[in-house]
Amino acid sequence: MYKHGARENGYGEGITEIYGSHCFSNDVMRERLPHSIYNEILMVQASKKELTLEVAEVVAAAMKEWASEHGATHYTHWFHPLSGLTAEKHESFVSPLPNGGVVVEFSGKELVKGEPDASSFPSGGLRATFEARGYTAWDVTSPAFLKSNPKGITLCIPTAFVSYYGHALDKKVPLLRSMDAISKEAVKVLRLLGDKDVERVIPTAGPEQEYFLVNDGLYRRRPDLLLTGRTVFGSMPAKGQEMEDHYFGALEEKVAAFMSELNNELWSMGVAAKTQHNEVAPNQFEIACIFSQANIAADANQLVMETLRKIAQRHGMAALLHEKPFAGVNGSGKHVNWSISTNTGINLLDPPKSFDDEADEESARIIARYILFTMAVIQAVDQRAALLRASASTAGNDRRLGGNEAPPSIISIFLGEPLTQLFDTVGNGRKRVNLAASRIELGAKSLPKLPIDFTDRNRTSPFAYTGNKFEFRMVASSQSAATPTMVINTAVAESLSEIASLLESALASGKTPVEAALEVASGIWKKHKRIVFNGNGYSVEWIKEAAARGLPIFRSAVDAIPEFMKDSNVEVFAKFGILTKEEAESRCSIYLERYSKQINIEAGVALDLARRHILPAASKSAETYARAASALAAVAAPSVVQEQRSRRIAALTGRVVEESDRLEIALSDAQRVEDPLAHAKAYRETVIPRMDALRDVCDELEKLMPKTDWPLPSYEDLLYSL
Ligand code: ADP
Ligand code: MG
Repeated sequence: MYKHGARENGYGEGITEIYGSHCFSNDVMRERLPHSIYNEILMVQASKKELTLEVAEVVAAAMKEWASEHGATHYTHWFHPLSGLTAEKHESFVSPLPNGGVVVEFSGKELVKGEPDASSFPSGGLRATFEARGYTAWDVTSPAFLKSNPKGITLCIPTAFVSYYGHALDKKVPLLRSMDAISKEAVKVLRLLGDKDVERVIPTAGPEQEYFLVNDGLYRRRPDLLLTGRTVFGSMPAKGQEMEDHYFGALEEKVAAFMSELNNELWSMGVAAKTQHNEVAPNQFEIACIFSQANIAADANQLVMETLRKIAQRHGMAALLHEKPFAGVNGSGKHVNWSISTNTGINLLDPPKSFDDEADEESARIIARYILFTMAVIQAVDQRAALLRASASTAGNDRRLGGNEAPPSIISIFLGEPLTQLFDTVGNGRKRVNLAASRIELGAKSLPKLPIDFTDRNRTSPFAYTGNKFEFRMVASSQSAATPTMVINTAVAESLSEIASLLESALASGKTPVEAALEVASGIWKKHKRIVFNGNGYSVEWIKEAAARGLPIFRSAVDAIPEFMKDSNVEVFAKFGILTKEEAESRCSIYLERYSKQINIEAGVALDLARRHILPAASKSAETYARAASALAAVAAPSVVQEQRSRRIAALTGRVVEESDRLEIALSDAQRVEDPLAHAKAYRETVIPRMDALRDVCDELEKLMPKTDWPLPSYEDLLYSL
């Protein structure tokens, strides 16, 4: 499968052979397709042409041949339904012949279009269940790849998923539409600034994925982890993360072996896994891939999550992608790094080498362009802060955000002091930035080195500028990167469109492009500076300050998700052709439903664990202590301790029963609510507090009961062994 025994060579060797060996990349297409067909594909990828069936036929034949050579027997259209997972329906390459024989084939039609029964995927009312028809269509820009599992090798074709009436039933279609929108608006702005070459602008994304590893045997003994991805009970071990050492000494090898296989597997599929390291909490890790255009990055991240789980299993471990698997321990996020580049290879958020704009016209133009595009993001984030918050809202993330170890649930931007000061001078209305003169203002010689200074980090910011890109740190670890990225693209497309209009009028009044750009930037800064916050996002003062600045504050996902249906957001989605009103509303109801379902399962597991695992164990413990007390008393030995312990455990056992009953009532009340928003609210306002109250009692019991009597693997077991 791997050329030249690369796999046997182990970690670090043979990467060039492994990399992309399971990926039907452009390189493979160039090798295997007739020149003219390959060129057609490039045109389709660049949105300059539509894919024809004739071209698809040739590609399909080459793809089938390549896949078969690698041992594939099946193919699947691989897509992202709104459940946030990936879906696939495997078809074999074998087609029956009328004479009873079979032929191995894969047609162009099968490549470009699939027709899975859509009825069991969430549609949020977009499609009545009886109209089961849904179509998957090949995303020509995202390469096909081979996935191996114990049953064999499958050719996976990244596709978009739409209903019979063309409604987007997935996360990819809106993402692709948002990429077109931002490209169109950005090119418009570039043209107004005098650029003649750029044809397309591409949003890029590079998600960093955090996750936990736990021992698989222990994992299987925790029904809460198995069913919900998080522990609904568990008292903190004596050692948490306070030492900030992520101590895992002897385990290192096991993790290293896992990471090595993970990397090989990802590399073979053409996923550029780059960095990996320990995270803050014990048994917490991070993997980041090299950024790529946004839709490919979103696909790659889905593969990363899937592969993490699969490889962990092979190593006797379970990968946890939940945002907060353990209370009191650092949670996991997905940091979506985002920028925009031109098709000519310029990252528009990359600061110019020098800010000395008096040097020549061209430098002045580049400086103005940088300032204007960065300003476009600032305006976008301020205008659509609520929607961005909504795009990162899940039940799991509610347990993470604002928890003093994760970004607060309020959207703000970290720019860093040098850039903030630079923008202040722009805001003060300089005709030219003339930083040669304002160098002193901005701090001596630091200016030419601005990019270096920009690498300053602020871990407390949900949306941080990190030198040549923004990092959306609020995103939930388990969610698809597609939706948050789509929302950033939409907001920036809107912002650029407004900028284009302002530029047009400024140019019409006789200003030069540079003057016009700086004038527009100045206006934006004055209006939207309030979204910039360079301080400590974890502090209580920030919440007050943010409220005073009028920034939207949503405490929970349930409050934020309805932003998808709010008029002004629906309008912007519609205006830029990203989501129709129905599509936006469907997202709102699906996300609310998911929230309710998630809490419903958590509460169900908590009840079951409390009643059928913890209660009998606690009752037995109380009895054991009581017996010990009488036995000791019988020989006139001191027995007060045993007696007290027995009473205390018995009393808490009684409270377990009480709290379980209260949770059950809250749960059945919530289950009866029909309206999706009211339903989710019922879970948040009544079920969650009852679930947390039950947890408090159980966690107290865990601390009192003999370890051997406790029916579940403890936090200590889960966090300090693998
Ligand atoms: P750091 O480790 O300092 O956070 P890195 O350069 O390693 O920064 O980047 C972190 C992530 O950001 C990586 O996934 C990387 O690929 C991604 N990234 C870097 N440049 C860009 C860009 N222009 N657009 C989108 N993502 C990017
Ligand atoms: Mg980073």
